[in-house]
Amino acid sequence: MSKKLVLAVVDALKPEMLERAIDHGRAPVMAKIRERGTYVRDCVSSFPSVTPVAAASIATGLGPAEHHIPSMNWYHRGERRYVEYGSSFEASRTFGVIESLIDTVYNMNMAHLNRARRTVFEALMDGGVRTAGTTYLMYRGRKRHLPSPEGMYSRLARAGGFTHAVWGPDELFYADLFASRKTDCRGILGMPGQRDQHTACVGAFLEENDLYDFMLASLPDNDTYSHRRGPYAQVTSIESADRALERIMHAAGGPDEFLDDHAVVVMSDHSQIAVVDEINLAQVLSGYELLLPSKPDDESAEIAICPSQRSAGVYVLDPERRDELTPRIARDLSAADGVDLVMYLAGEEAVVLSDRGELRFAPGGELEDDRGGRWSIDGDREALALRVEDGRVTSPSYPDPLERVWSALLCPHSGDVLASAGGGYEFDDWGGVAHVGGGSHGSLHRGDSLGVLMFSGTGPEEPPPTWSIKDVTPMILDHFAIDS
Ligand SMILES: [Zn+2]
Repeated sequence: MSKKLVLAVVDALKPEMLERAIDHGRAPVMAKIRERGTYVRDCVSSFPSVTPVAAASIATGLGPAEHHIPSMNWYHRGERRYVEYGSSFEASRTFGVIESLIDTVYNMNMAHLNRARRTVFEALMDGGVRTAGTTYLMYRGRKRHLPSPEGMYSRLARAGGFTHAVWGPDELFYADLFASRKTDCRGILGMPGQRDQHTACVGAFLEENDLYDFMLASLPDNDTYSHRRGPYAQVTSIESADRALERIMHAAGGPDEFLDDHAVVVMSDHSQIAVVDEINLAQVLSGYELLLPSKPDDESAEIAICPSQRSAGVYVLDPERRDELTPRIARDLSAADGVDLVMYLAGEEAVVLSDRGELRFAPGGELEDDRGGRWSIDGDREALALRVEDGRVTSPSYPDPLERVWSALLCPHSGDVLASAGGGYEFDDWGGVAHVGGGSHGSLHRGDSLGVLMFSGTGPEEPPPTWSIKDVTPMILDHFAIDS
């Protein structure tokens, strides 16, 4: 019989800040987990290193090429419209707050996430493991849940059109929308700053009533706090996340008792860096006819632009003009202040442009990366700061760069051209918001991409040479002896 396992995702948890919080006695539970288990401070996120893409990688063990969630904001070629998962309230308002929430709550899981691949919940449920989830972007499972009938917020949600059932884990608590049991926990509409306490309340209830073998405990408030106050302020929000974990563990007698008979995984989805300046994508590409959210049927529009924090995607609307416009857009983007990397596919190859030159690469070949992938490269290695030695290709600046860029470019929902912002820059979102003076993430650079992974009571005998957030689902399935 496997130990029960709790996977806690602390959004945007920055390794240096967790270490500071632990050193100052502000994160006693995470200190205990680190002390008892394995601590990794360079677990590689997805690219783009934004929450929906990373959450899908955590919940499936796959990159965007296979899970199909491309970004925070993207253009749906099939439905000919923008999809906005909530870059900011202002960005959501540009596309309609309700529409944006419907895309985030329903479509992300039920339509955009690849149905041909299983989530961690689906794989575990197929193997008879009891699963539970608190408000996490990715929740797709095998059990049907109707919207919660209880409470004032639930009535508001129903009035807003949130009346559909979803497929989730055995026990699903999602803001005030879904609650598989009656508890005294209040989601307060999933407002930032209120979400960790909801996870703590629900998690303690699940523990007290023995309702799970696997629980995904989502602790998103750290990300919001860090966006606003900057990553170096995280100690305060890490302390709150730690208290939420303590509350769940308290239901089993306290952290020591809990860790004696439970397995725990605590991780970041990505990190954050300090933002000092912004890039206005619409201005950079003002030489093209842009598809505006206010004119979705504009026949004269040539491109759709999708700023997603420190990454961006550009879509050529007319497939016949894709080959002509793609390299042109890439050059224009690459020349803009604050844009570090620009990427696109040319035939069987990926092209990466930067101030340091142009690199082309393709899978298969003589060179091996940190995770065993094989590649051939051509052109300026400095574009991705690549080091090549004894048949190995690495980059000190961009973790796992070839695999991550390739997977992003091959995601069927990705833009024709992708961009990664340089140090301190963020793309203004469709609401005109950038977190200047605060923090953000999304780029291929290590500052955004390297997060925490620590585990106790579980884990592989042989650790991979480099950890990725994609390793977590396989680790959990192994823990329960379930085939992936
Ligand atoms: Zn996140």
